[in-house]
Amino acid sequence: MAARTLRIGLIPGDGIGREVIPAGRRILEALPSSLNLNFSFVDLDAGFETFQKTGAALPDRTVEVLKKECDGALFGAVSSPTVATKGYSSPIVALRKRLSLYANVRPVKTVSTAASPVDLVIVRENTEDLYVKEEKTYAAPDGTKVAEAIKRISEKASWNIASMAGDIALRRQKIRDQGVDSIHKEPLVTITHKSNVLSQTDGLFRETSRKALAQDKYSSVKVEEQIVDSMVYKLFRQPSDYDVIVAPNLYGDILSDGAAALVGSLGLVPSANVGEGFAIGEPCHGSAPDIQGMGIANPIATLRSVGLMLEFLGEEKAAATIYAAVDKNLVEGKLLTPDMGGKSKTDEVVEDILKML
Ligand code: ATP
Ligand code: MG
Repeated sequence: MAARTLRIGLIPGDGIGREVIPAGRRILEALPSSLNLNFSFVDLDAGFETFQKTGAALPDRTVEVLKKECDGALFGAVSSPTVATKGYSSPIVALRKRLSLYANVRPVKTVSTAASPVDLVIVRENTEDLYVKEEKTYAAPDGTKVAEAIKRISEKASWNIASMAGDIALRRQKIRDQGVDSIHKEPLVTITHKSNVLSQTDGLFRETSRKALAQDKYSSVKVEEQIVDSMVYKLFRQPSDYDVIVAPNLYGDILSDGAAALVGSLGLVPSANVGEGFAIGEPCHGSAPDIQGMGIANPIATLRSVGLMLEFLGEEKAAATIYAAVDKNLVEGKLLTPDMGGKSKTDEVVEDILKML
């Protein structure tokens, strides 16, 4: 079989982004040759430092190269200025818009031997809901202020995100079948909403998600629903019950940060920004200025983001190889960065995981 070559854009950004993105490149280069995959890389700029140098946080070249040349990308982190800086806005938010990356996918996983094991993924719609940012403020008849925001839910975006959740549930099963350790035996999607109160907007999300997940191709996927407030409660009481959780934008935002707290360190949690035929892997953490330059950033969030990017590029086997290697490092627990209670440097953890491949 001819080897497949994937071209990957590398956008380290600011702070520890520059320490962890090189680890992402190294693991791609170290994948076993039996996977028949080759990679080429292109270094791209974005971030606050880029903004200070060039006046643009997201240079046009970065977007053009990603669109024209790349199959996928890895994004590190950007530091946010402590005071509002004129002309600066987040490049990752802009990138999601310009590349139509309509989903944010965040897996949260402990090793299966953990005291309270977790292995779930939150699939968050990323284009609409309250994030259309259509707000206005006006005066009530008594002269006091009133502010309003539009919550927009469309059938199309709901269908797409629920279908993506179904695809992810099936793929997670495939990855489990490759021998990656998990607490789950069967694919499950939980639809999260508040349609008991918002019968039209969340009602449409719920109904459309139900229809999307009723497609034949998802016949092996169990589908459940959970009102968002009880979802939060159950997520913290019994996180092992959940496999794939699909949610509109705002609930997804809140649930995904909350879920990240279940596994200890931000340095473990990956994410992907996904659109039609393109995915950007991105660790959930920020630029961590407090540990920047010390060589102790946990690389695991990035390595798992590499796996996630590969999943969306159709390379499940390569993804499973990375996940298994990371799990081995964590189960052994000998080489860990300080955020995990260890004493190892970023590079030592990376070396250990490369050995596990
Ligand atoms: P930013 O504004 O870029 O988000 P921040 O100050 O909010 O920066 P975060 O990156 O969000 O910092 O991190 C929050 C905390 O978690 C910090 O104490 C940071 O050191 C720690 N942390 C984040 N990522 C990692 C990592 N990969 N390894 C170790 N510790 C991390
Ligand atoms: Mg932060």
